[in-house]
Amino acid sequence: MDHNKLAELLFPHIDKTMEEYLTEIYPPRNLPQGAMVTRFAPSPTGFLHIGGLFTALVNERLAHQSGGRIILRIEDTDKKREVEDGITGIVSGLRDFGVEFDEGMMSQTEEKGDYGPYQQSRRGPIYQAFCKELVKRGLAYPCFCTEEDLAAIRKQQEAEKALPGYHTTYARCRDLTMEQVEENIKAGKPYVMRLRSPGKPGGRIKYKDVIRGEIEMDENIADIVLLKTDGIPTYHFAHAVDDTLMGTTHVVRSDEWVSSVPTHLQLFYVLGLKPPKYAHVSPVMKEDNGAKRKLSKRKDPEAAVSYFVDEGYPKEAVLEYLLNLANSPFEDWRRQNKTAPYQDYKLQLNKMSQSGALFDLVKLADVSAGVIGAFDAEKVTKDVLEWAKGHDEQLYALLNRDTDYAQGIFAIDRGGKKPRKDIRKWSDVRDYVSYFYDETWQGEYDLPENLQKEDMIAILDTYAKAYEEAPDKNTWFDGVKAICEGLGFCPEVKAYKQDPTGWKGHVGDVSNVVRVAITGRKNSPDLWSIMTLLGKERSLSRLRKMKEFLAK
Ligand code: GLU
Repeated sequence: MDHNKLAELLFPHIDKTMEEYLTEIYPPRNLPQGAMVTRFAPSPTGFLHIGGLFTALVNERLAHQSGGRIILRIEDTDKKREVEDGITGIVSGLRDFGVEFDEGMMSQTEEKGDYGPYQQSRRGPIYQAFCKELVKRGLAYPCFCTEEDLAAIRKQQEAEKALPGYHTTYARCRDLTMEQVEENIKAGKPYVMRLRSPGKPGGRIKYKDVIRGEIEMDENIADIVLLKTDGIPTYHFAHAVDDTLMGTTHVVRSDEWVSSVPTHLQLFYVLGLKPPKYAHVSPVMKEDNGAKRKLSKRKDPEAAVSYFVDEGYPKEAVLEYLLNLANSPFEDWRRQNKTAPYQDYKLQLNKMSQSGALFDLVKLADVSAGVIGAFDAEKVTKDVLEWAKGHDEQLYALLNRDTDYAQGIFAIDRGGKKPRKDIRKWSDVRDYVSYFYDETWQGEYDLPENLQKEDMIAILDTYAKAYEEAPDKNTWFDGVKAICEGLGFCPEVKAYKQDPTGWKGHVGDVSNVVRVAITGRKNSPDLWSIMTLLGKERSLSRLRKMKEFLAK
């Protein structure tokens, strides 16, 4: 068989060679030693899974912390999985969480970078040039088998208890003559291009996965499809070609691909190319009735990243939590570096879980409360407004009416050593601010159980009469203390605790009645700050309202 002649017969329109692509069209990158080039390579399904965001973040960190590059490549060779505007959903999902790419698709149609196109469906001639080269080397051939032929092979293999697949002596089109190929093509028979696998039955291969360590598997013996009948590559072939030309140093991808590694290594081998390093990431898991399972797109709303946007988890919190999941040492690092940007943490691939990190919404909420607690009031105001604009119109209108006032609310108890954790996500804000606005002030009271109605009325009455705006917290508290004795409450908590006889309660009980009158709640941020922001008139009116409520 004249392989050069076969190559020309099959690919007359391909005039560029694999060599030209490798050296001239996509010259090697010029990056410092140790710089990692990674990529995130989703199908354009329009849906970004939290596991996808997780993998993207890991890839982004590895690239940027090493001075390398990260690429967003769209793998659209499988038309069945594609949806309209499917790239937009992915790109905007990644953008919502601030995962920045250096190269690749930037929108449905735009891309940036020197190693494109970054959408596989636009790289047809490149794959074909690589395949043409393999034909020339006698390592790829056209296969005209129909579905029926393949079914017949399967049947024969079953009967002979042979390994399934298109391989060895079962690969019927392996040794077609030039005349047979010419005839088939002339007859217009569709064909795929297959690899002539050099693998031997019983052969084993070993490779070192950066996350999973050394893995030994059966060598690939199948003459896998390289190009489908329409000239579009399979995932395997596209992976080898793209990751070579794009200069990927580390393929960090989901662990569903581990079993394909023998095929991939063989492809690099027949192409005479150096394979990248592989790191297979376990899926994000969920605990369900005591058992661990993958987060499912169908069953779990939190599988879609849009869930976190809608709930109003700040992107910083989600990223922070995903880093917690990726590397357990991150939590310790964070404790020691409370205010450092997460980018200062050096992610380690070999510290990633092999069994699947457990995604826990309760833990996320806790991490998020800490992240929000560390924001300053200006950022909280800005981020809440941005979220509310698309998710809670009424809240947006309230806050936006007077943004200084809104910022005043968020400034309360902020900036100290131990920030409060009342806000875990922006959708908590509506409730958090409700008593600051007359429109949303419920007039409902969570009354203290340990006090008599009459005593509460007396407290409200006396306090209202004596109430002066105070310049600071201490002066304000002195004002509360000053009315205690007359009401039968001990002005010092300590003294009361030593000997409560003769008292109805202590100063804390008195201030709590005021707190419930102002906020409706037994627990609130600093009351002096709240009353100062509300102003004297509104504060007094709230004291009056609770008195009326009690007197009813
Ligand atoms: N397109 C593949 C997927 O979505 C990407 C796997 C890879 O990263 O190579 O699963």
